[in-house]
Amino acid sequence: MIKVIQYDITQLDVDIVVNAANTSLLGGGGVDGAIHRAAGPELLAACRKLGGCPTGEARITPGFRLAAKWVIHAVGPVWSGGGRGEPQLLESCYRSAFRLAKDAQARSIAFPCISTGVYRYPKEGAAHIALKVMHEYDRDFRSIVACCFDAENAAIYRKLLGATTGDDE
Ligand code: ADP
Repeated sequence: MIKVIQYDITQLDVDIVVNAANTSLLGGGGVDGAIHRAAGPELLAACRKLGGCPTGEARITPGFRLAAKWVIHAVGPVWSGGGRGEPQLLESCYRSAFRLAKDAQARSIAFPCISTGVYRYPKEGAAHIALKVMHEYDRDFRSIVACCFDAENAAIYRKLLGATTGDDE
């Protein structure tokens, strides 16, 4: 089941929290910073060992102090007009995250709105891609949570999903 909520992803009790990471995997601002703060310094130590991650791919680590057992660090594209393969890279980043989540035998997974913050990907286009891939994997999970932080993303996701859902986990 796909569920849209407006919430802080670090507070969710799900098997896997997906992080909108950058290619260094060494932390940043936005949701990345929030996840690292909540998971504790062990997360950065685990990420260092991974040696980075190309755009459009993802890597998995334990969740440490998070309620989530795992964090999947997915690297979305920086928006630079749409002519540099951004849609394909964003799609591939969601798909890579789902593949890792299936390998980890997760039943529940939460995603932030990858690339729609500092990376400036237009929100509606990003939501369309995210929901398309979520629908593809819907049957493989008990719960897929689109965890929006801002009201604009939450409204877009709810409109595209065609349903209004609750505001909490
Ligand atoms: P990116 O560099 O991929 O754009 P950002 O972290 O800047 O990553 O933004 C991605 C999305 O994560 C934005 O929609 C932002 O509002 C959202 N976000 C920021 N903090 C949190 C949080 N604690 N929980 C969920 N989403 C968050």
